[in-house]
Amino acid sequence: MAKKVGVPRGLFYYQYFPLWRTFLEELGAEIIVSDYSTKRILNDGVKASVDEACLPVKLFHGHVLDIKDRVDYLFIPRFTSISRDEYICPKFGGLPDVIRHSINNLPQIIDTEVNLRKSGRNSWKAAFEVGRNFTCDKKLIKKAYLKALEEYRAFRKQVKSGILPCDILDKRRKPVQPAKGKKLKIMVIGHVYNLYDSFVNMDMINKLRSSNVVVTTVDMIDDRIINTKAGALQKKMFWNFGRKAAGSAFHMLDSADVDGIIYIMSFGCGVDSFVCDLIERKIRSESDIPFIIVTIDEHSGEAGINTRLEAFVDMIRWRKKNETDISAYG
Ligand code: SF4
Repeated sequence: MAKKVGVPRGLFYYQYFPLWRTFLEELGAEIIVSDYSTKRILNDGVKASVDEACLPVKLFHGHVLDIKDRVDYLFIPRFTSISRDEYICPKFGGLPDVIRHSINNLPQIIDTEVNLRKSGRNSWKAAFEVGRNFTCDKKLIKKAYLKALEEYRAFRKQVKSGILPCDILDKRRKPVQPAKGKKLKIMVIGHVYNLYDSFVNMDMINKLRSSNVVVTTVDMIDDRIINTKAGALQKKMFWNFGRKAAGSAFHMLDSADVDGIIYIMSFGCGVDSFVCDLIERKIRSESDIPFIIVTIDEHSGEAGINTRLEAFVDMIRWRKKNETDISAYG
């Protein structure tokens, strides 16, 4: 009988799920994904996790609780780095231990370390280690790994073309198409788990599209452009997310190809507090592009988000129409 592997629908789910699914299924596993994020899942996660955790980590606890009793394994890789010479938030590195500490009666956790800081080839090392939970056949693991990479590249290509991960992976939700006519272009910056989980961001992307906005995210910008623009920073950013967020925001500023920028920030996120400030300073000092920060936590209400989005979009339109596009900052 196929071993059941539980994948919590949180954190890097919207970045890597197509890769994980293909790899594990090729090895004969049955994938059980936790339910879409809901108030119940969030509340369960909040109760199970420590108060200091950020919203995405609390929500992840809820997703683990949702599937833990239905699976043989939980798939929670220990991500240290996903790119050369860069790190990601340390909360990812400690995640399997935090989950073990906070939640009782867990199945076996597949917590293989993924550390690509020194070499991208370490991804094969991690895949081999995960694969050994299912087979001793190295050739089969290699085959599954190559197929998963192929699937992942196809997924990334779709995202680059403007079909966002939430449009592909969130089957409950229908992507809204902006209406015909004059559209605004707004860039939304944030971590994948804030950008593409429509419960967490209260379906911000579809709401913007309904207001006739074309949404651009970091994932749609060419990696070479991001790297070149991020190279303008005085010091190399060692956060993977920070480089991508700053590089793509700077690109938008330089190309003047955007009508506004929204930064979705998780309350309690150290990385966001630093990266967002860096981007905001650059925008305020070098351009008059409208910019807002939307901070989300477990208490965020939909009415508050709706009002801020509507006001932001209206302000951009009115400014274009009535004020010769001059910023209120002068
Ligand atoms: S980067 Fe921020 S939001 Fe993401 S896990 Fe770390 S603290 Fe939480």
